[in-house]
Amino acid sequence: MKFGNKFDRYIAVIFFVTIMTVILASYLTLKDVINSHNKQVQSAITPLFSLVTSEILRPLNVASFMAHNQFLLDYVSQESIDKDRLTSYINKISSSYNMLAFIALKNHNLMIDSDGKEAMLSSEDAEWFHRIKDLPGDQFTDIGNSEDPHLYFDNRIFNNDGKFIGFTGVAIDLNYFSSKFQEYSDRFGFELYFVDKNNIITLSSNKIMKSESHHRKALMTRLNDLPWHQSLVANNGTDKNLNTEVMYTTESGLLISQMPIQELDWRMFIVSPPASEQSEYWKIFISRFLLFFFIAIIFYLILLNTINYLKSRLIRHSETDYLTQLPNRSHIHSRFDDLAKSNKNLCVVLADIDNFKDVNDTYGHLVGDDVLRIISEQLSLTLRKIDVVGRWGGEEFVMLLPETTAQQAHIIVERIRNNIAAISFPISSTSGTFFTTISFGICEQSLANKTIESYIDCADKALYEAKSNGRNQSVIFN
Ligand code: GH3
Ligand code: MG
Ligand code: MG
Repeated sequence: MKFGNKFDRYIAVIFFVTIMTVILASYLTLKDVINSHNKQVQSAITPLFSLVTSEILRPLNVASFMAHNQFLLDYVSQESIDKDRLTSYINKISSSYNMLAFIALKNHNLMIDSDGKEAMLSSEDAEWFHRIKDLPGDQFTDIGNSEDPHLYFDNRIFNNDGKFIGFTGVAIDLNYFSSKFQEYSDRFGFELYFVDKNNIITLSSNKIMKSESHHRKALMTRLNDLPWHQSLVANNGTDKNLNTEVMYTTESGLLISQMPIQELDWRMFIVSPPASEQSEYWKIFISRFLLFFFIAIIFYLILLNTINYLKSRLIRHSETDYLTQLPNRSHIHSRFDDLAKSNKNLCVVLADIDNFKDVNDTYGHLVGDDVLRIISEQLSLTLRKIDVVGRWGGEEFVMLLPETTAQQAHIIVERIRNNIAAISFPISSTSGTFFTTISFGICEQSLANKTIESYIDCADKALYEAKSNGRNQSVIFN
C-alpha cells in the first residue's frame, strides 16, 4: 500500500508540473506578444505622423502653389477676363491633384469652382468670403458646405501692387479624409483627431467628424469635450506644450501623442489604446486559464480513477490463484503479517485432498481442477470475515483463523470435512459422479514472535498424522 501512495503522489507531481509548465509557457508567450504589440504600436506612431500630415499638407501646398502662380495673378488682375479660360485652369488643377479647386475674385464679383459651380460674391453661396476676408492672416482652413462638407484651404491672393484681390485654393471631401483615417485607425488601432487653435476638432477618424462644420456650430466638438482630454487636463493641470511633440498616458492607460501642424496652426492627436488592449489580453488569458485548469482537473481525476482501477485489478490479479480464485501463497504471507499485528492468538489449518493423484489419474486433470474449485468454495463457505483461506500449493489449502482455539477450529473443520465427503463430484466427460475426502492438520499458537513457517510446520505434522491414521480426518497438533 505504501507503494500505492508513492505512485499516486508521483502521478500528481508529474501532472501538476506539466500544468504549471503549460501555464508558465502561455504566460511568457502572452507577455512576449504584448511586448511586441506595444513595440509595434510605438514604432508605428512616427511614420503615421508623416503619413497623416502629408494628407493634410498636400492640399495646403497645392493651394499655396495656386496663390503664388504669377500667370494666374497677372491674368485675374486684368479689367476683363475670360471665364472659360479661368474655368479650364481650375479644372486642370482639379484633375491633376484630384481635389476640388476654386477661385474667388473681388473685383470681378465672381466665384468659380471645378465642380462647375459659379456664383456672384454678393450671393449667399459666398458667405465664407466675407467671413474670412477681414480675418488676420493669408491662409485659412475652413469647413464649408453643410450638405457635402469639404475642408477648404483658402489662400489670399494679391495683385502686383500688393492689393487684396480674392482667394484661391483647393478643397478635399471630408469623406475622403474619413475613409483615409479610418484605414489608419483600422490598421493600427488608433483614433486621430485634428484640433485648430481654438481647440475645436476639425477632423477625426471617428464619426463625430461630420458635425464640425461652422454651419452647425451647436454640434461642434471641442477638444475639452473628449473624455481622454479631460483626464489629461485633470492630471497635468493644463493642456500645455501646445507647439511641441508630446506623449501622455492617461489614467485609463490611453497613450496620447500630440504633434503640432504648424502650417495650419493645428494640432494632431493620436490616441492609442495599448493598456486597455492589454487588459483584454489578460482577461482572455485568465478565462482560458480557468477553462484549461478546469478541464485539466477533470482529466486528472479521470486519469487517477483509471490508474486506481487498473492498479487494484493488477493487485488482485497478483494476489489471487487463477484456478480457485482464492488468495495465493504470497498473499497469504502478507495476510499473516497483517493478522500478526492485530491479534494475539492464531489457529492455522492445513488441508490436503486425499489420494488426489488417483482422481487425476482416473478422471483426468480437468475433473481434478473441478474438484479443486468445488473444495475451495466449501472451505470459504463457513468462515468469518477476518478468517483467511488460501491455496498453499497443488491440492493443499491453508486457513488462518485469528483468536480461535484448536478445539473451535476442530469443530469448524469437521463440519467442512463431512460436507465435502458427502459431495457427489461430477465427471464432466460422462454423467457419472464420485466421492473424495480431505484431511486437516490443526495448529494453535500464541502469535508472539512466530513466523508463518512455524505454524505451517506444526500444522503439517498434524496433517501427516491424519494421513497416517487413514485420511479423511482432522488432527490437532500437540
Ligand atoms: P495424499 O492423500 O497422500 O495427499 O495423496 P495425493 O495423491 O493427494 O498426494 P500427491 O502429492 O502424491 O499428489 C498430489 C497430486 O495433485 C499430484 C498432482 O498431479 C495433483 N495436482 C497438483 N496441482 C494440481 C492442479 O492444479 N490440478 C490438478 N488437476 N491436479 C493437481
Ligand atoms: Mg499433497
Ligand atoms: Mg493429497
